Amino acid sequence: MPGHPSCRLCQHPLAPEGNLDDGLCVACREAAPVHDGMSAATIYGDASRDVVLALKHAGRFALAGPMGRLMAMRLEASGAVLPPDPLVVPVPLHRTRLWSRGYNQSVLLARGLAKARGWSVAPDALRRVRRTRALGGLDRSERLEMLAGAIVVPHALSVAGRDIVLVDDVVTSGATTDACVRALKDAGADRVVVSCYARVRSPWRAGALRD
Ligand SMILES: [Zn+2]
Repeated sequence: MPGHPSCRLCQHPLAPEGNLDDGLCVACREAAPVHDGMSAATIYGDASRDVVLALKHAGRFALAGPMGRLMAMRLEASGAVLPPDPLVVPVPLHRTRLWSRGYNQSVLLARGLAKARGWSVAPDALRRVRRTRALGGLDRSERLEMLAGAIVVPHALSVAGRDIVLVDDVVTSGATTDACVRALKDAGADRVVVSCYARVRSPWRAGALRD
C-alpha cells in the first residue's frame, strides 16, 4: 500500500516504530505465510469501510468495477510475481449466508478485477461447506481451528496446475484466506496470490468484522 510501510510478505501495515530491517510483520517472522504474495488496494478505515459496506450490504453493485480495477492496479504494483494467465477465485460464502444476502461481494470483486485484466473467473472453485461463526475475538490458532475443513475445492481439476488470484473484500487476520490457499494448494493449484480490497491494520481489535 503506497505511503505505508507494510510487511513484504503479507502487506500487513507495520507500526512506524516496528523493526523494518527485514520488512516482515511479527506473524510472518514466526511462520512464512502459505500464500505466494498479498496485495491490498487500501487500508481498512472509515472511507474504505463505507465502500465495502455499500457493496456488501447495500447492493451497490456498480462499485465492484472500480474497486476491482483498483485491486488490479495495486496487485501489479505490489511486487507479487504474477503469472500470465491466472484464474481468479473469490473467497466463498456459506450458502445460508448467500441466501440471506443474495450475492457474494467477493464474486463481484473477482469479476471486476478479472475484467480489468482479461483474466478468467472461477466463481465456484471454492465452497464453504460448514458455516462458521464470526471470527472476531478469536486468536489466530482458534480461527484456524474453526476454519479447518470448512472450505474445500469441490472439483480439483478446475484448479490443478493453475496459478490463482484469490479475491476477498476485507482481510483481517488472514485466517480465512489462509484456509482458502491451503484448500487450493491441496487440490493442486500452483501459485496463489491474494488480492483484497482492504487490509485491516490491527486484526485483533477488529472484533466487529467478519473475516
Ligand atoms: Zn506479514
